[in-house]
Amino acid sequence: MYNLTDIGTIKEILGRHGFHFSKSLGQNFIVNPSVCPRMAEESGIDENCGVIEIGAGIGVLTAELAKRAKKVVVIEIDTKLLPILDETLKDFDNIEIINQDVLKTDLAALIKEKFDGMPVYVCANLPYYITSPVIMALLESRLPIEAVTVMVQKEAAQRICAPVGSRLSGAVTVAVDYYAHAQKLFDVSAGSFMPAPKVDSCVIRMDIRKTPGIEITDEELFFRMEHAAFGQRRKTAANSISAGSGIPKDVVIKAIEECGFEPSVRAEGLTMQELAMLSEKISEIIHG
Ligand code: SAM
Repeated sequence: MYNLTDIGTIKEILGRHGFHFSKSLGQNFIVNPSVCPRMAEESGIDENCGVIEIGAGIGVLTAELAKRAKKVVVIEIDTKLLPILDETLKDFDNIEIINQDVLKTDLAALIKEKFDGMPVYVCANLPYYITSPVIMALLESRLPIEAVTVMVQKEAAQRICAPVGSRLSGAVTVAVDYYAHAQKLFDVSAGSFMPAPKVDSCVIRMDIRKTPGIEITDEELFFRMEHAAFGQRRKTAANSISAGSGIPKDVVIKAIEECGFEPSVRAEGLTMQELAMLSEKISEIIHG
């Protein structure tokens, strides 16, 4: 079995295959030996589970997942990594590699086809350029998954895990909190990667809620409202919502008043329940 965090081993394998890192594909591979075992350990998986990994690199996390789970399906876009993975993961018989763009993958169909009723987890060191679209696709499509454990840039982690209504919260905080309970697991320094990125990272875990965190009758309106509200976070909620959502300003002002909020309230000061209350009120006023 290869030591996939040993710099000499990695350089030898990559060199032999003529592989060059692609910045545009977010290729920063983990070389700190403690990171992947800890990630796999804290992701909640066991020998009865299926795991989807996004982006294999040379398979350093894939191997740790495969040691602990029943089956690992890893989606990797870069064809040049396939012969490398064939070599580095050859000792495992429970790994399947799919050479595809995760954003073009029908994950619901994949889960049905590959995991045969097993509890399914997602675990990945995400390419940073697609962090938000991947997380939102995983959550919004209501996949039958238990938890998503991902490495993301530290700033993104802080935003995702911030309490709704706190200074750091934003549209993504509200959206994630609607579908999942997010928590920070541990920090990972830039020096843990090859090549080292400019910023530090953090591993977070999002446990999918069986039912959304709040009750909302009109989800489409709720998300339209909250995206507009956080899109221009320095403005008052009345101004940002009416400017960015297409909901008439008089409706927003009336709803804010009927909820008992200050007219100058800003979205970032509202809790999840208060945002839900505001969206319900707007819906009531619009639909009479
Ligand atoms: N898991 C490895 C590790 O921890 O060392 C590699 C992580 S690296 C940050 C991201 C990986 O995602 C790369 O292997 C890259 O080729 C792959 N990738 C980038 N964009 C992708 C996409 N759209 N779909 C699937 N894989 C992608």
